[in-house]
Amino acid sequence: MSLITVESLLKERHLRPEEAPRVEELWAEIRRLKKERNAFVPAHNYQVPEVQAVADYLGDSFELAVKSRGIDSAFVVFCGVRFMAEGCYTLAPERPVYVPSLDALCSLAEVDEDDVLERQEFLRALGRDFATLTYVNTYAAVKALSDSCCTSSNAATIAERLGKPDILFVPDQNLAYQVAIKTKRMYLPPPDPHAFHPKEYREMVEPLIREGERQGLVGNVFAWEGACHVHHQMTEADIESIRRQDPEAAIVVHGEVKPSLQRLADAVLSTAQMIKYVAAHPERKKFAILTECGLIVRMELEHPEKQFYKSCRLCQYMKANTLENLLETLRDRPPERLVTVPEEVRVGAQQAMQRMIDLAS
Ligand code: SF4
Repeated sequence: MSLITVESLLKERHLRPEEAPRVEELWAEIRRLKKERNAFVPAHNYQVPEVQAVADYLGDSFELAVKSRGIDSAFVVFCGVRFMAEGCYTLAPERPVYVPSLDALCSLAEVDEDDVLERQEFLRALGRDFATLTYVNTYAAVKALSDSCCTSSNAATIAERLGKPDILFVPDQNLAYQVAIKTKRMYLPPPDPHAFHPKEYREMVEPLIREGERQGLVGNVFAWEGACHVHHQMTEADIESIRRQDPEAAIVVHGEVKPSLQRLADAVLSTAQMIKYVAAHPERKKFAILTECGLIVRMELEHPEKQFYKSCRLCQYMKANTLENLLETLRDRPPERLVTVPEEVRVGAQQAMQRMIDLAS
């Protein structure tokens, strides 16, 4: 049962009074259609609050992936971005999965599988003993090339449990840093985007690999050159100004922010861990949560007694899903919004996702 009501949205100024009747009307129709058509609507924590309010399940990428396997409905309308809907279909292909908007994409997920194959070949030629660990924020073709997937909540745990000294971490370079720190591996920075030159890259990483060996580290994390544009644009100044203004505020960042920000924060957490962190610290009244704004809206509604600094950023892809296109999808099931993956790719991606779920537990 969602805690989000029209009253709470109005109180926290997430809704204008003149919009309230329309939102209530849409909610009623969406709830009616869900019931009538036996549809299930999962939603990511970054969705707009009006959409979160009518979701059957709300969570981060890992929680949504685990949930995907146990849905007992005729079809799913996935309120998240496309790679998440693909993940839902990958794990349970017997049930149709739709996305409300074709614009719900993700800049981080745009990785070419041929580039991954090239990098794997390069590491083999270098004689490295490595596993490919792929963030779930990728499409199925890249997941299928991986030993396991991970999310920001379990990346370090999975890296430790893969049993290899080296990790090729695809595609988020900042989360790769977090994995290196937590698992005592050397962080090897990525090449510039679209500029992987084997000789230059080798000359850059080899001295760092030797330094890691000198320090007795477990191995290395080879970072891919991707970044989430939403988190990567956050700056050290965002944190420093809050520290100056309010030294009491707890500053929590997502693992997708740059390493320099991770070092300045009080905690580096996934979205689900951020929700637990705020609930677990009743003594703290002020927070700066550096992630996508949808999560902050949820926290404001769940904790009206606390104050949240507006240090978040919007992801236009997550905001592409609206009550209107959710309703349309439930009602019409437009064929172009159906998400599928070629079977030979799906099987490989399923293995990598299932390995994540097994290793994380
Ligand atoms: S917040 Fe970043 S990682 Fe998440 S969907 Fe948007 S662009 Fe992709």
